[in-house]
Amino acid sequence: MNPRTTIGPLPAPVFDQYLRLDVPAGTFLDACPCCGSAPELWQYQKGEDASASKAVMCSLGEPIGPQGFLSNEGCPLYLPCDDFYHSTIREAAKYWNEYACALTTVRDLNTRKGGQEQAVLQEQPWVRKEERTLVLLMLVGGHDVTPEAIAGWTDTECQQAEEWAMREHLHASDNDEVERVPMPACVKAHPQQAKPLAAGVDHLWER
Ligand SMILES: [Zn+2]
Repeated sequence: MNPRTTIGPLPAPVFDQYLRLDVPAGTFLDACPCCGSAPELWQYQKGEDASASKAVMCSLGEPIGPQGFLSNEGCPLYLPCDDFYHSTIREAAKYWNEYACALTTVRDLNTRKGGQEQAVLQEQPWVRKEERTLVLLMLVGGHDVTPEAIAGWTDTECQQAEEWAMREHLHASDNDEVERVPMPACVKAHPQQAKPLAAGVDHLWER
C-alpha cells in the first residue's frame, strides 16, 4: 500500500499518517530535481502522540518505465529518505531547495564532463543563484567562503568563482583537457582556516 494514500489513522498500534498541506504564500519550491514534476508539501506523523514533521516530496507516484510490483512506485523523491523530514515547513522547504540545487548542479557538471562542456555553457544564459555558487565552491574546498560572503559579491565575482570551482572540480576528476584558472580574488579573500586540533586525543600516539 502506498503510505501517502493512507486516509485517516490505521488501526492501533499502527499509526502512520501523511497529510497534504498547502504551500504557504511566499514559499518557493524548486521542481523535482530528479524528474521535473511539481513538488508537494506533506505532514507526517508516525505515532498518535508523536510530533508531526514536514517534508517536501515529488508528486510523481505513478510507475516509471519498468517499475512495478513495488510498494513505493514513482520518482525516487516521491518518498524520499528521512533527511527530507523537518519540524517546520520553512526547514523542509529549505532542505528541498538546497538538495534540488545541489543535484541539478552536480548533474550539469557531469553532463559537461562528457565533452559537452561547450554545448551546455552556450545553451544556458548565466543567472545569479547563490545556492549554486556555494554548492560549486563546496565541491572543491581550499577556501572558507560563506553564504554571507557570496551575498556580497557582484554577479561577475559569482561567475568567476563558479568558473574557477567548475574547472578545479573537473580537472581533479580526471578531465585533463580542462584547464585550471587562478583562484579569483573574491574566493582568495576567504582563505581556509586551519581546523583546531581535536582535544584529548594525545593517547592515540602513546603506544
Ligand atoms: Zn520526481
